[in-house]
Amino acid sequence: MGLPGVWRYGLPYHRRVRVMERLEWLYAIGEGPGANRIGYSAEEDAAHDLARMWMVEAGLEVEVDVAGNLFGHAHGSETGTGRVWTGSHLDTVPEGGKFDGALGVVAAIEAVERVGRGSVVVFRDEERGCAGSRARVTSGELPGAFLELHIEQGPRLADAGAPLGIVTGIAGVMRGSIVVAGREGHAGTTPMGVRDDALVKAAREILRIEEAARTIEDAVATVGQVEVEPGAVNVIPAGVTLSVDARAPDVERCDRLLAAIGFEPTYRIDPSKMAPELRDLLRAELEGRGLPVVELTSGAGHDAGVLATAGVPSAMLFVRSLNGGISHSPDELSSEEDVELAVDVLAAALARL
Ligand SMILES: [Zn+2]
Repeated sequence: MGLPGVWRYGLPYHRRVRVMERLEWLYAIGEGPGANRIGYSAEEDAAHDLARMWMVEAGLEVEVDVAGNLFGHAHGSETGTGRVWTGSHLDTVPEGGKFDGALGVVAAIEAVERVGRGSVVVFRDEERGCAGSRARVTSGELPGAFLELHIEQGPRLADAGAPLGIVTGIAGVMRGSIVVAGREGHAGTTPMGVRDDALVKAAREILRIEEAARTIEDAVATVGQVEVEPGAVNVIPAGVTLSVDARAPDVERCDRLLAAIGFEPTYRIDPSKMAPELRDLLRAELEGRGLPVVELTSGAGHDAGVLATAGVPSAMLFVRSLNGGISHSPDELSSEEDVELAVDVLAAALARL
């Protein structure tokens, strides 16, 4: 069976083009380089206005909740927990790409219009900590299931030669800092043998953190910020603060990683599991198309994780990222063929829920 066969025969040509065109429209909002639609900014508002217009065109019933999350309900569809939501977010990181979040929304509008059931949801402000979905799970009605289509944002599907992937769970995230103390001194008069250089010690700490993550399967750890005190070219550093972002697929590995690195997280999101029955549904759709079935954990956080943690059976369909899996960058890329296939699988899964 040819990979994109079902889609190509299943949908008029103009609809295939429309998905990619809508991504371009969203990308055109605001100033470049890249997409700049920070949560709750005028640019995110403009993206929501576009999505609302497409929902109306698709004959969906539009609703906005108190947090600004946007919904498009298929007419006559089930309500409450009988309802299925599909969607993602339209905010971006600064200088973000064309596909992160936006693809899940555009694909959801296409899929819900096509099968005439379910609701599209566009969550607000995902990138800075899932503000929209968090607000929703504490204050609004929730669906009986949630499907989120999203780009992989990594190289694993491309490496496996698979256009699509099924997410098993979303990694837990732990963030905090490590402070390294030393002794300030004159860069010219303090002999090497008597120095207590905080930055040299911090450099060893960074290597140790990297090694700790390497010893635990599918764990990752990153030092992304380094603050040096006093931070002068001719003063031996007296203190260094390292940021730590550590992630692992399950609670047991999160705890082991935390112990191996040795820091107190000030921010912690527990890992979440995707619903087995929804994963089975997606797997059947992939198998039915003769596609390879690749299951993987998501190292990035997603609205689906927030809903899953709140008890909503949730699943994610990943679309292969090209360009080495680069994301949060204007170089983010997925192929039109893979996007078509993903929308087709999403629609078919929605029809069967
Ligand atoms: Zn995203």
